[in-house]
Amino acid sequence: MSNHGATAIAIDGPAAAGKTVVGTRLAKKMGYRFLDTGMMYRAATVAALDAGADFNDLDQLTEAAEQIDIEARAGSEGETLILVNGTDITSRLRGHDVDSKVSVISAIPRIREIMVEAQRKLAAGGGIVMVGRDIGTVVLQDAAPKIYLTATLETRAGRRFTEMKDRPGQPPLDEVLETMRWRDDIDSSREASPLRPAEDAVIVETDNLSIDDVVCRISEIARSVKR
Ligand code: C5P
Repeated sequence: MSNHGATAIAIDGPAAAGKTVVGTRLAKKMGYRFLDTGMMYRAATVAALDAGADFNDLDQLTEAAEQIDIEARAGSEGETLILVNGTDITSRLRGHDVDSKVSVISAIPRIREIMVEAQRKLAAGGGIVMVGRDIGTVVLQDAAPKIYLTATLETRAGRRFTEMKDRPGQPPLDEVLETMRWRDDIDSSREASPLRPAEDAVIVETDNLSIDDVVCRISEIARSVKR
């Protein structure tokens, strides 16, 4: 378990709940570092795709993840950049091919072990906003506050569609929604660290809130936390 809770903020929640944009802005506002852990699972997915691994063969998928060296760095706006074996692959990580496979990768316990260890190392020293699915429940159990951001599937799929619609090969809204439903189902029902709010998480529903509203709300919660 980590011991950096004094200055770590955990933000968990389903796909496109706003974790990345909110987390980046919050970190900037608070002078903290930011880590989007979803990008690490996405990087392992790209590695498996590039290795031509069979997505029904968990050993092949694990081997592909074990063979790469994943480095997370901060970009100019504090966003997470991912380097695999020294090459920046960030621009590939949000493609639909990755969306439609990443939940298979992230359900594999050995892959989660590798990622969680790396995430705890990155959190060493505190002063970090970390976003994902299991930050409050597993990775940084001492984080304070713990936030669970959520919104309806329709709102979230609409956001993701709008964000990605100019990308070549981007599927229509109904396919984006179905892929998201599939990811949510696997992420919430897997045995290894399923997506769920930590018992001491504050749940923030973002359907009718602007990004600024959410950032303000979380900063207030963070300020009110006793350290
Ligand atoms: O947050 P994002 O949608 O980029 O995450 C991609 C996928 O990575 C999620 O659907 C989930 O399967 C996995 N993930 C995870 N644990 C985390 C972060 C992401 O299992 N801490």
